[in-house]
Amino acid sequence: MKAITVEPQKAGTARFEDVPEPHVHEGSVLVQAIATGVCGTDVEIVEGKYGWAPAGKDRLVLGHESLGRVIEPDPTGWVKEGDLVVGIVRRPDPVPCPNCAVGEWDMCRNGQYTERGIKQIDGYMSERWRIEPDYAIKIDPSLGLLGVLLEPTTVVAKAWEQVELIGSRYFWAPRTVLVTGAGPIGLLAAMIGTQRRLEVHVLDRVKSGAKPELVRALGATYHTEKVTDIGFEPDVIIECTGVGAVINDCIHQVGSGGIVCLTGVGSGGAGGHRVTADLAAGAVLKNKVVVGSVNGNKRHWFKGGEALARADHNWLSRLISRREKPEKFAHALEREANDIKVVIQFCEA
Ligand SMILES: [Zn+2]
Repeated sequence: MKAITVEPQKAGTARFEDVPEPHVHEGSVLVQAIATGVCGTDVEIVEGKYGWAPAGKDRLVLGHESLGRVIEPDPTGWVKEGDLVVGIVRRPDPVPCPNCAVGEWDMCRNGQYTERGIKQIDGYMSERWRIEPDYAIKIDPSLGLLGVLLEPTTVVAKAWEQVELIGSRYFWAPRTVLVTGAGPIGLLAAMIGTQRRLEVHVLDRVKSGAKPELVRALGATYHTEKVTDIGFEPDVIIECTGVGAVINDCIHQVGSGGIVCLTGVGSGGAGGHRVTADLAAGAVLKNKVVVGSVNGNKRHWFKGGEALARADHNWLSRLISRREKPEKFAHALEREANDIKVVIQFCEA
């Protein structure tokens, strides 16, 4: 079969090539790939900045945002032939740490977790892949190709859960949420905000095109000004840009008792002791909380699947802005002006 593979930590090594069929030790469920989403992590791996090959191998099969159809079910009958499934990305560390031991691999303490398509396990950008039944998430069949959006949705399902857990420490009746960044993560975070019947605002520097249209179609308000110029103090901010200056503005702008949830990782920007002191003043005097959120455990995959099934499928379909064939993977990894979520499509859903 064919797969998109890369030699991690070495730029220019990605190729679409013949590889052996997936080995049964990778899982009892055999899946025909339908599509894989492309994200910034895939680009970083192809650029040689991130990623680890499986033990004893030089190359890694890329891809962690999956969707496929079961062609060989597992003996327990949990997934059946023809089911649409998405594969969970992270696997618990082998020690395991206390969190991995209880299935909270998203909170792994020792960093020895592995991840399909990223860290030491082959990913999902192959014509067929195998998976353990416990890590195959069945999706609502009506979603079809839209199921490829599940992995990014799990990220925001966890972020919202973190916000609610922190909010439960006191009397909390949030009304407004600001989402910074209108990429796939930001738009999905906004979608979940509207499902929670909050007043949703989304801020991005792009002034026209699909992003503002998608935000307005949610019934939310689109902003292009600076975070500190939006004219109100949000109860919740879901930060999806990872840009230092935007993060600083979010911490400043969030209301008293508010929560800033960081989902993006960036670098640089204004920093130093002044920012740390401002953060401390907001946290102490105004009960503000800044929390980071990464990955998701099985509960978040389940919640993400529910959020997608409940969403307007027509709106979700507009998030998939471009589909490419696997042999055109290099083009799929290039950023184009109107891209939101680019998917590599192996076959029809
Ligand atoms: Zn762990």
